[in-house]
Amino acid sequence: MPKAPWVVLLVSSTALARPHTDANGNLIRDAHSCGTTTIKQPVPGAALFSAPAANAPRTIYLNKNGGTYNVTTGMTDAATNTANVIASGDGKTHMAAVIPPIDANFDWNYIVQCVKAQYKPYNVIITETEPTSGNYVEAVVGGDGASTGWSANSGILGVASADNFCGVTEKGIAFSFAHNHIGIAKANDELCATVAHEVGHLLALEHEISSPDTMSYVPFATAGAKSFTMANSQCGTDAQDTNNCSCTTTGTGQVTDSALRPGGKAESWEERLLEDGSRHRVYKRWFTAAGLAQELGGGETVHDGPWFVAVRLPGA
Ligand SMILES: [Zn+2]
Repeated sequence: MPKAPWVVLLVSSTALARPHTDANGNLIRDAHSCGTTTIKQPVPGAALFSAPAANAPRTIYLNKNGGTYNVTTGMTDAATNTANVIASGDGKTHMAAVIPPIDANFDWNYIVQCVKAQYKPYNVIITETEPTSGNYVEAVVGGDGASTGWSANSGILGVASADNFCGVTEKGIAFSFAHNHIGIAKANDELCATVAHEVGHLLALEHEISSPDTMSYVPFATAGAKSFTMANSQCGTDAQDTNNCSCTTTGTGQVTDSALRPGGKAESWEERLLEDGSRHRVYKRWFTAAGLAQELGGGETVHDGPWFVAVRLPGA
């Protein structure tokens, strides 16, 4: 038997499928987060951006014109407009899904300049012309997500098709659902924040609670400004909703997570906006015990069941 105290998170399939309010009464999210640990960890901010080989800049393609996308069970590929079902609203594949152009409500040039400002400190090229070769990530900005399985009242702001979470998805696609930003205070700034946030996931960033940071859920109009801040921050989505970090060393102790369900999707970022204007991006992830142990750098499986898995880290 393990000697260290440890926490098991039980998540049923029913609970995963039904959003709910958290203990604060104002958040809809699953009572489940990736890599839940017994030890809280701060996450370094911009340091998580990683430079590509030979220090060449990464390219971010901003697409306001929409297009036809295939949401499949395969790898994400911006060059072929192929996303993974992790970015779908219903966990299903969607072939020939049409993303419409951005609504006329928005000031596209303002948004482009805003996204460029967000990424100015980093070694990236932002272009509105789709590259014809090489790796690039695409941010497509338009629609309400209906063509990729999101319900009309989901309020979803965006979702990242990030195959390699905690690492760079070299050909990732970030969907920002412009239509769902209409009516939000400072809508152009909020849409810019969503684009920068979803691309951030493609570049290995996870959520942090710091209000002005782009990777928090705090709306622009509340935070007053959004950028990738350099300060350390607790992981989570806002000050009322903290998580242990998923993408840093978890230290010693037990780590549990819900099991990778047969036929299910391995992970998912889902973004929602509540009636009070707060923004919520819900992260769900499912593991096998072996997969969890591999991600943690080794460990002993102490439970591998249909609804949860538990791995004891070496030395724990
Ligand atoms: Zn997010």
